[in-house]
Amino acid sequence: MAKRKTQIVVVGGGAAGLGLVRKLGKRYGREKHDIILIDRNRTHVWKPLLHEVAAGSLDPNLDEVGYGGHAARWGYRFFNAGLESIDRDGQTVTTAPLLDEEGKVIVDRHEIRYDYLVLAMGGVSNDFGIEGVREHAMFLEDRGQADRFRQTLLNACLRVNQARQRGENATLPICIVGGGATGVELSAELVNSAKALQSYGLEVFDDSAIQLTLLEAGPRLLPALDEKISDSVKDQLTSLGVDVRTGAMVSRMEPGRVHIKDSGALDATMILWAAGVRGDDAVRGMGDLELNKLDQIVVKPTLQSTVDDRIFAIGDCASCTLPGADRPIPPRAQSAQQMADCVFENLARAQRGEKLKQFVYNDRGSLVSLSRFATIGSLMGNLVGGKMAIEGRIARAAYMSLYRMHILNVHGWFRGAAQIVVSKINNVVRPALKLH
Ligand SMILES: Cc1cc2nc3c(=O)[nH]c(=O)nc-3n(C[C@H](O)[C@H](O)[C@H](O)COP(=O)(O)OP(=O)(O)OC[C@H]3O[C@@H](n4cnc5c(N)ncnc54)[C@H](O)[C@@H]3O)c2cc1C
Repeated sequence: MAKRKTQIVVVGGGAAGLGLVRKLGKRYGREKHDIILIDRNRTHVWKPLLHEVAAGSLDPNLDEVGYGGHAARWGYRFFNAGLESIDRDGQTVTTAPLLDEEGKVIVDRHEIRYDYLVLAMGGVSNDFGIEGVREHAMFLEDRGQADRFRQTLLNACLRVNQARQRGENATLPICIVGGGATGVELSAELVNSAKALQSYGLEVFDDSAIQLTLLEAGPRLLPALDEKISDSVKDQLTSLGVDVRTGAMVSRMEPGRVHIKDSGALDATMILWAAGVRGDDAVRGMGDLELNKLDQIVVKPTLQSTVDDRIFAIGDCASCTLPGADRPIPPRAQSAQQMADCVFENLARAQRGEKLKQFVYNDRGSLVSLSRFATIGSLMGNLVGGKMAIEGRIARAAYMSLYRMHILNVHGWFRGAAQIVVSKINNVVRPALKLH
């Protein structure tokens, strides 16, 4: 009888999972192992680009990766469905039925065996249970939501333009909740788009037509970065016309209205919620994994779940507190990528029966892009002798390098380098805004 192949199942082809399946497929191929990627979407767009997709400054069609083609190239199998449950005793996962837009079943509920399971399902926006947020705010969790934001934005800009042509003093109030990297970067990107719209046929539209308010509950923007950087970002956004309000805690939301604790309400045509990340509550009860208060899967320093050594969790869906640390690894693209590298190594060690490696987080710093206006942040590491604040061209180059690393990780060195050259050419030949 033919020997059963080792089956490694990775759920989620995002910043962590996609690079991992490429490397697993390349190392083991279909001959030795069966590597399976499960994702509920058919294509991947790198999450840190979503604010640019939302503001129209990036065409996602040029940057997205189709899982089917990627799987064929790198020797793994792709299964398009959402994870529904995990049976740890039987070592199987069950995927939910795949439905079309009318709710008709395309692919039935399906059971997939695993020898090792890697959960890399990312996170969802944390609405902190605040009344009305889920119903009335928009989110930036995937390409679909970023596309919807852009379409709503364009429609609203066209309405304002038309009203202004009739002589009315119309404006478009937009409220962004959350002064972390997403909220800050989206604010600057929207100012950039508003400045450009006039030359795209919206003749009477200028940046005064968009009224942007950025609300942050804490005392300052970008709490993960140094205070000096937060202050500088606040000054730059303010000079771009963004109304930045710190210490502004949202208490309730209604259609088109945001209630702020102790300071009344704010009316906005569009409201975007970007106030933190938590695990998807769908993971509750799946395989009785240990979860923290934010529904993230608690893992050991080897990135194995605390209850089952055959199940690993990486990226935003995992909570990993390393020995001696007082808080978990932050939910970032760089940590997701580093965790994927560690699990790649640990899967090999586990099969050889060796001791698994402990994850070491190498914080390379944090950078924030204020669209074409500025890039600012800090670099960490031996190369710069600890922590160094940077801005300008060096900061821009460092910011771009994170995405380039992701491209190389997903496509390999040769194809990745070609992809980077193509995107440089696209920057020159394609329009600066995607207005459809
Ligand atoms: C607008 C924005 C800007 C950001 N900017 C930065 C930045 O500048 N720097 C930085 O370091 N980080 C940034 N981040 C954070 C970073 O994007 C995340 O930390 C990172 O993407 C997490 O990687 P991941 O693989 O865990 O999850 P993701 O990249 O979110 O991938 C999760 C994958 O799992 C799939 N999935 C989810 N649930 C299921 C399910 N039940 N079944 C099957 N598939 C499922 C999803 O379709 C997706 O493909 C930003 C995030 C956003 C939203």
